[in-house]
Amino acid sequence: MEELKRILVSETPEHIGETVKLCGWVSIRRDHGKLIFIELRDRSGKVQVVILPDHPEAALAAKEVRSEYAIEVTGLVKARPGKAENAEQATGSVEIEATSLQIISQPIEEPPIDVSNPELSLNLDTLLNHRTLTLRNDKVHSIFSLYALLLEAYAAACRKRGFLEVKTPKIVSAATEGGANFFKIQYFDREAFLAQSPQFYKQAGVSAFERVFEIGTVFRAEPHFTTRHVNEYTGLDAEMGFIGNFEDVMAELEGIMMEIVAVIGERGQTDLARYGAATPPVVAIPRIRLADAVEILKREYGKETEGEDIDSEGERMISEYVAKTYGSDFIFLTHYPTAIRPFYSMPNADDPKYTDTFDLLFRGIEIASGGQRIHEYQVLVDTIKKRGMDPEAFKDYLDIFKYGTPPHGGWGLGSERIIQKLLGLGSIKEAVLFPRDVKRLTP
Ligand code: ATP
Ligand code: MG
Repeated sequence: MEELKRILVSETPEHIGETVKLCGWVSIRRDHGKLIFIELRDRSGKVQVVILPDHPEAALAAKEVRSEYAIEVTGLVKARPGKAENAEQATGSVEIEATSLQIISQPIEEPPIDVSNPELSLNLDTLLNHRTLTLRNDKVHSIFSLYALLLEAYAAACRKRGFLEVKTPKIVSAATEGGANFFKIQYFDREAFLAQSPQFYKQAGVSAFERVFEIGTVFRAEPHFTTRHVNEYTGLDAEMGFIGNFEDVMAELEGIMMEIVAVIGERGQTDLARYGAATPPVVAIPRIRLADAVEILKREYGKETEGEDIDSEGERMISEYVAKTYGSDFIFLTHYPTAIRPFYSMPNADDPKYTDTFDLLFRGIEIASGGQRIHEYQVLVDTIKKRGMDPEAFKDYLDIFKYGTPPHGGWGLGSERIIQKLLGLGSIKEAVLFPRDVKRLTP
């Protein structure tokens, strides 16, 4: 007989009446008298396998298996009564009547966590300590399916707009923006740092290729204990040349965000449903000056703001205000004070106390910072001096601007925060495969 090719669980409804081969993990085994039922899980979904006593070898093997055994099953696909209402239930419309069952890989011990439980209600530490196992849970799997969709959609949207994908170095020689949040590493006989932003390389990219984007690791040596910070995250960066002003940058980011929302809305419904989550409404993203936002917070919420920035509570409130006033889950806050933005930020032409920069907030937290950058060599040198820094220390960076660099701008967008807020996860760490925080370096 010809050897059967493995098919996926998701393909079983197309093979009713045929004998097929499946490979996967045992989610649950249930015994009902002489019948044994196995919920079999592969990368595409779950299906019920029934082992009847008239296949004694299969029945014998089935009696041995427990949760998380990797097995191979050959059997007949049979329709089950009842209609499927969505893709997830589609495989519930069939059942596999096993004619043979083989153990492919056997756990060395009973798993400490039952990952078949649809609601893995574990505390965050337990969830992360047992990450290799908890990643097998359906709901957890959904986080990373959506995360992959986000990366795919971001890259596709950038490419469509003429951005060239680049990868910039993560080992850098100098803590260029001021060194407090850099991790120091030993680099042969000298000291080096882990990049806390691809900023300077993106700008070099603009001066060569006009438009670049990067999906890359960002390291932050910040001792945060919050639900929205990790010390290693994945940045969705982009930088674009020949802009008219920073509104152009916001417009591009907005277009890309809306494309991501559309892709997730089209292809992520099964995963969103596991969290009772919905994609944000597609409406124009309001743009509000930071100073006006501060006023709104005072007026609407009686919130007093220190200086001219808003804290995380303020970000939550202004998001709430914008959601109820404009029906938008996003908001651009614009014109941040020069004093709280990096030296390369373009000062506003009307009032240089402010910059042509923005933050993008999503459901209460900052997900991106961006703006127009200074592109003129001498202006940069003067700005660096004015900030009490030494232009000599920025030599490599300044070289970018020596040979005709056009007006440009871009953004740094945090990938994990998008998924956190999309699904309403309590912590960003749930959206990181193996998160790194102040206390956690394993697994
Ligand atoms: P925050 O003020 O929230 O600490 P930031 O202003 O320091 O963030 P940026 O340097 O503007 O962060 O980085 C760009 C984006 O990268 C942020 O808007 C955020 O989405 C993401 N990001 C920054 N720091 C972290 C972090 N420690 N963990 C996860 N994502 C981060
Ligand atoms: Mg920021």
